[in-house]
Amino acid sequence: MKALLMSGGLDSAALAHWLRPEVCVTIDYGQIAAKGEIAASSALCTAIGLEHRRITVDLSSLGSGSMVDRPAALGAAAMEFWPYRNQMLVTLAAMMLMPQGITEIMVGSVSTDRHADGKATFFRAMDRVLSLQEGGVRVTAPACNLSTPSLLRKSAFPYDLIGLTFSCHVHEFACGQCGGCLKHRECVDTVYHRTNEQVT
Ligand SMILES: [Zn+2]
Repeated sequence: MKALLMSGGLDSAALAHWLRPEVCVTIDYGQIAAKGEIAASSALCTAIGLEHRRITVDLSSLGSGSMVDRPAALGAAAMEFWPYRNQMLVTLAAMMLMPQGITEIMVGSVSTDRHADGKATFFRAMDRVLSLQEGGVRVTAPACNLSTPSLLRKSAFPYDLIGLTFSCHVHEFACGQCGGCLKHRECVDTVYHRTNEQVT
């Protein structure tokens, strides 16, 4: 039984549509955009026909950068950097879902992820850490070798659902100006409006 960590952004939305996990889980860990992520993920799962669950754990006091409206942490590659975020999210999802029989947790990282915890080597290490423990849960990142435009194409993600996706880092609604919103617009434009261009 597979689960997908879902933020409601293009990458996790495309994976949900493509791989149809048994459950998609969105975590409110105290990030400013949590409300938007939950609304988008819930609407996408309803539209695609998947089960959606949420976890709420307020870790905002431990966050840094634009996702909690504070200065970026030391070593940040981008304003939205939150130290140890992906291992935290995987762990929280595993804590809820392992007792319910989940055997694999999928994460929607893509090849352009600049953070160390978004790369294939990190997910191999997390897979090893979880598989050593009770439940033997596996961790995978099925799109870690694909760009977002390539993933949208591979998953045949329908344009009709683009309006439900949400990528903002700094508001509960799409601000249109942050790194997440700008990437969202660029990728949608590339895939759905520039059909004559070759995208890799
Ligand atoms: Zn934004």
